[in-house]
Amino acid sequence: MIPSKFQYKRAKSVTDALSMLSNDAKFLAGGHSLLPAMKLRLNQPDTLIDISRIEELKEIKDEGDHIIIGAAATHHDVAYSTIVKEACSMMASGAEQIGDIQVRNAGTIGGSLAHADPAADWPALVIAAEATIRVQGPDGSRDIPAASYFTGFYETALADNEMITEIHVPKLPAGSSSVYVKFVQPASRFAIVGCAVVNNADAGEVGNIKVAITGVSEMAYRAHAVEDELMGQVLSEESIERAAARATDHVDILSDHYASEKYRKHLAQVYVKKALETIK
Ligand code: FAD
Repeated sequence: MIPSKFQYKRAKSVTDALSMLSNDAKFLAGGHSLLPAMKLRLNQPDTLIDISRIEELKEIKDEGDHIIIGAAATHHDVAYSTIVKEACSMMASGAEQIGDIQVRNAGTIGGSLAHADPAADWPALVIAAEATIRVQGPDGSRDIPAASYFTGFYETALADNEMITEIHVPKLPAGSSSVYVKFVQPASRFAIVGCAVVNNADAGEVGNIKVAITGVSEMAYRAHAVEDELMGQVLSEESIERAAARATDHVDILSDHYASEKYRKHLAQVYVKKALETIK
């Protein structure tokens, strides 16, 4: 449980951090995923570049039709931000459900998205919110839609020489609702199943509905089958039941010592139903 030797550097700005990056260096944000991996020697960077005190990375801003969450904003910052609550409430309530208070005070949204744990909460939240992940590298910045950001088990579209700088979240139109519900692993509170739903319509109606699920497969996914089932429907007990039954259509379901494939499938259906009933 002792990491191998590394150098520690503290970056003052994004440019400064990117200039320090070398092949065996890693950014250090909250350290809540990286340090445990280093202690187990699953990860042995020779340099840690601390980005947690870069002010420009911690801001949460209202930009009119969308908000910007800085990559180094902690889960706690997001959970208690009025800007986030007003723009897309499930982002705040989802952040509040992450881990415990120590994890929320140190862990960051950018660190979680870079790490891409298949049981993490942010992946489902950013997919359902149709957020965009802005990353910066040596050749400038680019925007990656959340829908194409996650590419596999702990894998993303982020290149080794890039840093996540901002998460852009569209504001929900008036009358919309959003919710995040999850079944937690009781020790860590990671999601065995987490379901995020955004519905751009008045209560009971189905508008442009987005359903995203984490914890079930090797990466979070948009549950298009559930959305298709709800198209043109009102949210009733029957339509919700039919839609929830399709929570894992076309998905390879994980099986581990926390939950078998069969149990995860069941939980996914139960939690999609719970989420839809909440916004009914
Ligand atoms: P770090 O650990 O510092 O970094 C993780 C990885 O991301 C590293 O590879 C690092 O180099 C890279 N990185 C960090 N920031 C950036 C950036 N801006 N750009 C590019 N790369 C970057 N998560 C949940 O979702 N739900 C939970 O319920 C939950 N429970 C937890 C319980 C415990 C006990 C612990 C220890 C963790 C838990 N987590 C949970 C994970 C937690 O949210 C982590 O904070 C998060 O996954 C990683 O964020 P971090 O800021 O700590 O990143």
